Amino acid sequence: MANQSQYIEPAPIKDKENPFESMMSRFNDAANILGLDDETYEVLKRPHRQVIVSLPVTMDNGKIKVFEGYRVIHSNILGPAKGGIRYDLGVNLDEVKALAAWMTWKCAVVDIPYGGGKGGIICDPRSMSAGELERLTRAYTSALVDVFGPDKDIPAPDMGTGQREMAWLMDEYSKAQGKTEPAVVTGKPLVLGGSLGRTEATGRGVMVTALAAMEKLKLNPAKSTCAVQGFGNVGSHAAILMEERGSKICGISDHTAAYWNDKGIDIQKAIEYKNKNNGILQGFDGGDLITNAELLEAKVDVLIPAAKEDVITQENAAKIRAKLIVEGANGPTSAKADSTLYNNDVSVVPDILANAGGVTVSYFEWVQNRIGYKWPLDRINRRTDRAMKDAFERVYKTAQKHNISLRLAAYVVAIAKVAETYKYRGGY
Ligand code: NAD
Repeated sequence: MANQSQYIEPAPIKDKENPFESMMSRFNDAANILGLDDETYEVLKRPHRQVIVSLPVTMDNGKIKVFEGYRVIHSNILGPAKGGIRYDLGVNLDEVKALAAWMTWKCAVVDIPYGGGKGGIICDPRSMSAGELERLTRAYTSALVDVFGPDKDIPAPDMGTGQREMAWLMDEYSKAQGKTEPAVVTGKPLVLGGSLGRTEATGRGVMVTALAAMEKLKLNPAKSTCAVQGFGNVGSHAAILMEERGSKICGISDHTAAYWNDKGIDIQKAIEYKNKNNGILQGFDGGDLITNAELLEAKVDVLIPAAKEDVITQENAAKIRAKLIVEGANGPTSAKADSTLYNNDVSVVPDILANAGGVTVSYFEWVQNRIGYKWPLDRINRRTDRAMKDAFERVYKTAQKHNISLRLAAYVVAIAKVAETYKYRGGY
């Protein structure tokens, strides 16, 4: 969930899978294990609602440009839809549908009362002025004012959007309602009802699930080694929190460089360097320069991919030497790589579990907005840690019971919950 200033051009991916197919292949495997009946399967696999909007926006040169925007509600069976809004030239309906479904399973795994949604606008936010982005965000909000709502569909930031866009969205929606409605969106600035702890929440959840998995694998955090790909919001917070728990972070990387230090990288120093160096790691002197491939294939106990999707694929899965992968990023492992990792005894805490700390604190933000009361940071951290630990235990027990991977188990837990709720609610 990058801010404008952190926006990163995705690198070309060799065996990139269609995200919807990748999600569906895991969904199908889990549905088979559950013995899901055909009717429920049909209901759960289709998005509940797909909206496409045209957004005419006056650009700074006085000309009108029409943008295309999407909002997909994959499911509202467990509660209002929840999911981010992406600004990117690569946005397309297939991707938004996959990401919306991912949100359904993610919210179900961590047991929060939300369905799944996702939105996006085809645009290049880096080439637009703040004024153009504000008009675009307000046009999008206005076009979807009947879709959004604190009890219907609650957006959040995603790639290319941040606090600023969420503030515009909250304001535009509030104007249409004739009252201030902070609970319509999460990831807001603190002064507008954002939550303490939201910035570090995803990295914190990664650390909590990593420690829970290490306990099962009998890996002592204080004697463990770790490599982290991506040094943005998720990666840098996960790295420093793992370091605080005693793990030696031997490798870090971003899109500009990767560094290795056998003695452990000083993560605070790396963060300070990055902050002074336009947000990039290139030129950091706390380790030796290595390649991103070497970082992924390094002999460490824990590998945390926290950059982007499809970095562990059929091509490099057999070369991964970590004992445990904790997926900070969404979709870093392609569906085709899953079986290689499983057969090689590499445990994977899957994205829909490992990075759900973010949506958990978003949920806490929404709760605080609704009760009109701000929680202190220690309460938020305590509740996030408990939610993540409980979710890990549910998934772990399911994996043991069916003798399956943690990924498949996470889908089984999520789909079972949504299917059971659907059975009680019923259709027409
Ligand atoms: P970010 O923009 O803050 O950071 C991304 C980092 O990845 C940057 O350091 C960037 O340089 C690095 N990167 C990009 N391409 C790379 C490459 N080819 N090799 C190595 N590093 C590369 O983004 P973020 O918010 O930290 O999100 C990272 C991932 O986590 C994304 O997949 C996102 O969807 C997922 N995620 C984020 C949150 C959240 O709360 N921020 C929640 C859930 C999931």
